[in-house]
Amino acid sequence: MTRRLIFALAILALAFTPAIAQSKKAPLHVLAFYSANSERDHVDFAERAVKFFADAAKRDNFQFEFTTNWEELNSERLKNVDLVLWLNESPNGAAQRAAFEQYMEHGGGWLGFHGAAYNDSDTHWPWYVQFLGGTVFYGNNWPPLPAILDVDDKTHPVTRHLPAHFLSPDNEWYSWQPNPRANKDVKVLLTLDPSNFPLGLKDTLTGGDVPVMWTHTKYRMIYINMGHGDKIFTSAEQNQLFEDALLWLGNKR
Ligand code: ZN
Repeated sequence: MTRRLIFALAILALAFTPAIAQSKKAPLHVLAFYSANSERDHVDFAERAVKFFADAAKRDNFQFEFTTNWEELNSERLKNVDLVLWLNESPNGAAQRAAFEQYMEHGGGWLGFHGAAYNDSDTHWPWYVQFLGGTVFYGNNWPPLPAILDVDDKTHPVTRHLPAHFLSPDNEWYSWQPNPRANKDVKVLLTLDPSNFPLGLKDTLTGGDVPVMWTHTKYRMIYINMGHGDKIFTSAEQNQLFEDALLWLGNKR
């Protein structure tokens, strides 16, 4: 090899090194929010979720942090966060809401559970309602009960490990109006099986089409209705679903 050729190869190698380094994605950075002074069953879920996702972070090689301080929902804190988890509530503060809107409208990621999507006439956050697919909380069963869930699309990366139907552990199930499925930009991933109805004793879901997990395809988001009480993480197949949901959102960065 001539000296000139060696020199040329060295220059080439140098030229390509940064490109190779850049093609390696930084690890996914996940930040979970929850309220510690929320309904007891919702805090129970959130504490178990933090443990579950901290373990998943070791398995799947992502960074996981959590906070109970919603003030951390600001643009500075979210700068290097790829995915935000809301485990039991949504923010009330105008600045926090604005920071979240900004974050999601510019490619941020969100995985929300149960009470995170609770909204009613007192919520006064129209952007959030449209973000959820234009839907508002309508009703719930009581007490918490297990339910059979139907997988809407077995080919979707988030649900591909699930059987067509599976038993989801005790939860307080919410119904919605209007139905998020009516929004053409919403893709429903899981639905309450009709055999569950009537579902509840004190409060009852009587029937109809009740989606329990969906994504608004204009955003990098998934809402999962599970999240009430200490039984949620007792199903291996459902745990896999939660992990798959997080990883799918993360991979869409
Ligand atoms: Zn609940």
